[in-house]
Amino acid sequence: MDKRPLFHRRDVWLLAGLLLLALLGFLLFGRGARGDVSARIAVDGQVVRTVDLTKDSDFALEQNPHIRFSVREGAIAFVSSDCPDRLCVHSGYLSRPGQMAACLPRRVSLTVIGTDDSDGVDGVAY
Ligand SMILES: [Zn+2]
Repeated sequence: MDKRPLFHRRDVWLLAGLLLLALLGFLLFGRGARGDVSARIAVDGQVVRTVDLTKDSDFALEQNPHIRFSVREGAIAFVSSDCPDRLCVHSGYLSRPGQMAACLPRRVSLTVIGTDDSDGVDGVAY
């Protein structure tokens, strides 16, 4: 009798190995993208504050108390500003590393960054 298994033993191990790798990658990337996100606020190109997006908060910019920010569930937004166009407020909530909003009239920018941000986009020496 010729018994033909569906999988060779070696294939099963290979498959298990791949699954394990995928799981590992998922865990690593999942944490990097979700857990450790923060935002940088810069005035005139100078970083004045780094905000942890894992904690909800509301605060005003020290340099301009009319500009207020809100952090909700891992996202941050300009919620009020004394600028004429209000484009910054209309940008809404940002949550992904690399997203940014700016208040051009007040020269304030908001950039979301991941802690493992290896994009090399960051030109600010801090
Ligand atoms: Zn604005």
